[in-house]
Amino acid sequence: MELIDTHAHLDMLEDPEAALTRARAAGVVQMVTIGVDLASSRRAAELARTHRDVFYTVGLHPHDAAQTGEALWAEIEALARAGAMAVGECGLDFYRDLSPRAAQREAFARQIDLARRLRLPLVIHDRDAHAETVAILKEQRAHEVGGVFHCFSGGLDLAKQALDMGFMLGVTGTITYPKNQALRALVREMPKGRLVVETDCPYLAPVPHRGKKNEPAFVAFTNQGLARAMGISAEDCAALTTANARRLYGLPDPEAADV
Ligand SMILES: [Zn+2]
Repeated sequence: MELIDTHAHLDMLEDPEAALTRARAAGVVQMVTIGVDLASSRRAAELARTHRDVFYTVGLHPHDAAQTGEALWAEIEALARAGAMAVGECGLDFYRDLSPRAAQREAFARQIDLARRLRLPLVIHDRDAHAETVAILKEQRAHEVGGVFHCFSGGLDLAKQALDMGFMLGVTGTITYPKNQALRALVREMPKGRLVVETDCPYLAPVPHRGKKNEPAFVAFTNQGLARAMGISAEDCAALTTANARRLYGLPDPEAADV
């Protein structure tokens, strides 16, 4: 069984090398490590440069959206051009509101523009800001590049709007939480070609590691939770989500590359 962790913060793990070793042993063949600000985008690019199964994105998270300035944007763009698979995570977080909303909107719009110029997909963070996230994506013509709503937390309406704009939905370990019946019901309604699995490590560890630090190896539990919700085998779910992840980010198939 081959799995891809489509959303990890490897640079936030205590011992990324040890976590990579455990991930490989658990069948995780590729991982995408996500930039949330300039420093983490640099670290993500470096991790990808030094590991052939690690890929990276660059972005400015809504929590950090107040850290702007032309020098920052120039470096973000240079890092994106150097081989990033996507732009983000970017978006809106009106739950924690750690940056002023005007700054969140501006940073988000700017990253959509960057993704369109570079023809890269977007990694979207949307927390308690569904309507406005969709409005900005539409205004900025994000459908031209698509991407993923990471850690999807909306209902059927938002899911349909995301699908209409060409986006995939990222399923995290929360699908294994006993109370999350809504997400399990939702994924059954979704087209199979639009679901990917992710850890969002070190956050959101799936059952049976809930409450502990998450790591890419645990994407296997998320895949199992998604498989159960969809009523398919873990093997079929892995084949499906791995193919979707490769399409989402344009990741190579390592087996095909060896031929
Ligand atoms: Zn994240």
